[in-house]
Formats: sequence, C-alpha cells, structure tokens
Amino acid sequence: MAIIEIRNLAKSFGAVKAVDGVDLDIQAGEFLTLLGPSGSGKTTVLRMIAGFETPDAGSINLNGVDITYLPPYERDVNTVFQDYALFPHMDVISNIEYGLKVKKIGKSERREKAIEALRQVQLAGYENRKPSQLSGGQRQRVALARALVNRPSVLLLDEPLGALDLKLRQQMQIELKELQREVGITFIFVTHDQEEALTMSDRIAVFDKGRIQQLDKPAKIYEMPSNEFVAGFVGISNLISGNVAEKLLGKPGTFIVRPEKIELGAAKKNERNADGVIKEVEYLGPSTRFLVELDAGVTLMVLRQNTSESSIDVEAMRNSRTSLSWDIGSEYQVK
Ligand code: ATP
Repeated sequence: MAIIEIRNLAKSFGAVKAVDGVDLDIQAGEFLTLLGPSGSGKTTVLRMIAGFETPDAGSINLNGVDITYLPPYERDVNTVFQDYALFPHMDVISNIEYGLKVKKIGKSERREKAIEALRQVQLAGYENRKPSQLSGGQRQRVALARALVNRPSVLLLDEPLGALDLKLRQQMQIELKELQREVGITFIFVTHDQEEALTMSDRIAVFDKGRIQQLDKPAKIYEMPSNEFVAGFVGISNLISGNVAEKLLGKPGTFIVRPEKIELGAAKKNERNADGVIKEVEYLGPSTRFLVELDAGVTLMVLRQNTSESSIDVEAMRNSRTSLSWDIGSEYQVK
C-alpha cells in the first residue's frame, strides 16, 4: 500500500520551475531515495512533503489523507537536516525529548522513549553531553534519534550525511539502513551522491530539471537506465551512438556499455572487438581506469581489477595500442 501519493506536484520560484509535474507513490516501510544533480528539485519535493513549502499545483496524500496544505506540525512526518539543527544549550537527552514535551507526554514516558531512541542510534550513555561535545557523526545520530522518538509515519532526510567525511559517511550509510529496517518507518532520503543512493535504497527516483526521469530499484537504474541522462548521472557509462554505433555494433541507436564490462587486451575473447590506443591510465589501488581512444572514433573508459598488476605495470601501458572486447549482452540501448 502506498503511504504517500504525490500527484502532478509543481512549484516555481520566479521563473525557475523547481518541480515540474511529479507523480510518485511511496510504499509503507520503503527506503526511497530522491537522487539528482544540484538544483534538480529533490529538496523542494521533500520540503513540500514536510510542509515547509506550499505547492503551486498538485496534491500530496499521507495515509490516504490530503496533507497538501496542512502546516508542518499537523503532518505525521519528521525531518532530519544536514546541519543537524540541534539546540546547542540543551544536553542530548533534552534535545531528544523536546518533541515529546511539546506533545505533552509525561516525564517518565518521555525519558524512556528518548533512552530507547539513543540506544537505536548507538549512543547509549551520551545523555548528558552537550551538542558541542559531540563529533559530527554523533550529532547526526542525535538528530536522527530526535526525529525517531516521535515515531512518525515517514522520516524525511535531507542529505543527512553530507557533512561527514567519506569513511564516517560510509559507516553511517550502513547504520542508517539497519536502523530503518529495525524501526520499519518509511524513509525518504535526498542525496546527490549516486553511490549512496545505490547502496541504501529500496527504490531510487532520479530527478532532473524538476522531473522524475526514472523510478526503479537500484540495480535497474544502473543496468537499465531509461534515458541518456540517467545513464550518465548514475555510474560512469560509455555512450556509443550515431556512425560509431553503426560501425562498431552494426546497428543504429544510442547504447551504453559500463566500464567494468569491457575487457582490455582480450581480443576475440568476447563477441565485440575494437582496437585503439590507451590515452590515459589512472591507478586507483584495487583497480585501474583506462581511457582508450578507439580507431572507430569514440573514447571508452575501461575499469580493470589489479589482480596481478602493479602501478608501474599499468603506467607503462600509456600510449600503447590495445584491443577491447565485451559481450553483446553488456550493451544496453537508451532513448
Ligand atoms: P541541491 O542538491 O543543490 O539541494 P535540489 O535538487 O535539492 O538541489 P532544489 O533545492 O529543490 O534542488 O532547487 C530546485 C531549484 O529551485 C533550484 O534552481 C533552486 O535554485 C530553486 N529554489 C529552491 N528554493 C528556492 C527558494 N526558496 N527561492 C528561490 N529559488 C529556489
């Protein structure tokens, strides 16, 4: 059952169409990510669900009730922001209890719920710290606990991991996903980081220019992008089109082949073969990225695991001729 139904949602700021006709059904208990480049409208959609922004047109239903024009506090949703928005003068437990206090919930019940929420975000024992005595990751956990303690139907997360460094961010991605499974609350998560979206989401809505370009499971988005924009934005893709497609693939259209599907120096092993020159070599530790300029007139990126090669070996391949090959099944036609 859809917990949120969005129909024909639109919002402009002056001449900018921030959101331009969005339809979206979000299932109860789902982890749905709104993914897109900066300015594509995902935050504006989230803010309209939260009630911080009023749509110009369209509707939002939550649990079958039209909430389009309800004030934020009358909606059964909570938002977690990137900048945490904790009260600096209150300790951790008071920050978490705040929402319950506003709802006039008694002191002992408040405390019990806040302590449980702290446990859920793995911060048991931090009750009396001030936000200034916490690390960025810990502050983000407190912000999460503060939202979770209200047990909203839907939790809205606006780039909540954006301020964290890469390692902590990756750790929090795993924790956040586990937490969502534990509490069973619907999460709507905004990010512009495609890797984050691919690892965490049940489904991803890819945004561009105020519209949803594709709504699908992560693997589908990656393997079967519905158009050139999605193919280019999610992961790295090699585009083969026009004359080159006719020459290399023997068919018209625009096709993508992901860099990890192409083999280097393995001519005739696979169904497709093409010769060219290695123009760039980028050693990444576990793998190496090669840019190969094909005689057919297109440059393809190839990603290869460094199973036995050292950085010196791969560097020596620069400017040498090579053959690429891949299976026809790795070619995916996009609109
Ligand atoms: P980001 O990842 O940078 O946050 P986004 O995809 O979330 O981007 P939005 O914040 O929804 O994008 O913005 C969509 C468009 O609407 C942008 O062009 C933005 O400049 C514009 N916009 C958003 N909020 C306002 C506002 N309050 N006033 C004027 N323009 C706005």
